[in-house]
Amino acid sequence: MNFLKRLFGLGASPAQKRHANSYLLTVRCNRCSEVIQTRINLDDDPSIDYAENGATTGYFCRKVLIGKQSCFQPIEVRLSFDPQRRLTERLINGGDFVEE
Ligand SMILES: [Zn+2]
Repeated sequence: MNFLKRLFGLGASPAQKRHANSYLLTVRCNRCSEVIQTRINLDDDPSIDYAENGATTGYFCRKVLIGKQSCFQPIEVRLSFDPQRRLTERLINGGDFVEE
């Protein structure tokens, strides 16, 4: 565990809790039923939505996931977050969300 912490802590100050700003996404391909998991880093991955006055209205992230089995169906996921990086909306094409 300490080894993992060191590995993922590269470049970050020790006080930062990097895992608090990531979102674990689990989807199931609707063609082959493969379950695909990915972690979205909310500090780096989403783009920022700006209001007309320049304020941050939230974050948006689009991901295309392809399983490791032989079906190769792209599963498109769109995630919206509020300015506090809480998930507000999620859409999926080609698969289903899997609840933890
Ligand atoms: Zn598939």
